[in-house]
Amino acid sequence: MTRIDDLPVRDELRGKSPYGAPQLDVPVRLNTNENPYPLPEPLVERIAERVREAARDLNRYPDRDAVQLRTELAAYLTKTGRHPLGIENVWAANGSNEVIQQLLQTFGGPGRTAVGFEPSYSMHALIARGTGTGWISGPRGEDFTIDLAAAERAIAEHRPDVVFVTTPNNPTGNAVPPETVLALYEAAQAAKPSMVIVDEAYIEFSHGDSLLPLLEGRPHLVISRTMSKAFGAAGLRLGYLAADPAVVDAVQLVRLPYHLSAITQATALAALEHTDTLLKYVEQLKAERDRLVTELRAIGYDVIESDANFVQFGRFPDSHEAWRRILDRGVLVRDNGVPGWLRVSAGTPEENDAFLDAVREVKKELE
Ligand code: PMP
Repeated sequence: MTRIDDLPVRDELRGKSPYGAPQLDVPVRLNTNENPYPLPEPLVERIAERVREAARDLNRYPDRDAVQLRTELAAYLTKTGRHPLGIENVWAANGSNEVIQQLLQTFGGPGRTAVGFEPSYSMHALIARGTGTGWISGPRGEDFTIDLAAAERAIAEHRPDVVFVTTPNNPTGNAVPPETVLALYEAAQAAKPSMVIVDEAYIEFSHGDSLLPLLEGRPHLVISRTMSKAFGAAGLRLGYLAADPAVVDAVQLVRLPYHLSAITQATALAALEHTDTLLKYVEQLKAERDRLVTELRAIGYDVIESDANFVQFGRFPDSHEAWRRILDRGVLVRDNGVPGWLRVSAGTPEENDAFLDAVREVKKELE
């Protein structure tokens, strides 16, 4: 049998495994920070209508520049982000993973480096590897906040081409204060200058506001967003960015022509028409997230303050063993490889109750 390593794959891919959260068939799946609520029926109808219309034109390539979709995304950001943005500030792709890939293809690549403050979203490092960008693991403090002095030192020492800041951070859930992001931006400009990518995949769940207003006068700042979480549309694969128009022009140099299918554009437009309804689910999920924090603490777990739709809790002498025991009770959470900690996504009230029952039992067993 031919194995990957028998093929002439690039050296940096040898012996590596692909990204993948387990997709197990268990009653309660709280492991990938999805929105637990299916799309409301009127939206399903609207998607069907829009897709039917788009289907008639599938003999043609889709709008390469996704003009209507980017206009609507800019309107959504303007309405919710306290900062006016137009189509020229917005770019969209198949999930924010693809947005990040396009950014690293544009601003990273062979001979260049990117830094992220870990533990954070593991795909940043993996996309760096896939694009031939060197990866530097920057530090976080014991409490998982970014230690600004240490981060500034890392930026000054390595002079990275790209700096990633994930806020709210995944898997830890905590948000990064705007002053810290600003200081990191300044440090990155002094060192290189480099691009700063703020990954706001979970910002709609935050107690605080989006950093969109910081875009003003900062052409090296990019804010990356997604419809996978707050819009409850992980299956749609629609991510987007907001930045200076020059950044939007620059990513066109690497994007594949017609990368966003007509079906994707039609579906995303339908979902945006139902923004208000979808954001009501966000309010419910925020309340459930806060309940998880309170109840986990009442059970006796340590919990990191969360601004996302998930919560990191611990501490376990052996987090993988705890993960398995929770799974034995029909609840799938995530072991992100952060020693001593696990992560649970906020589900429906019933799912969260099942999870809390499971971790209550596991806590007793492990004592
Ligand atoms: N950024 C962060 C911080 C994430 O956690 C995720 C998804 N888990 C993504 C980006 C990617 O999301 P998508 O590609 O679905 O937009």
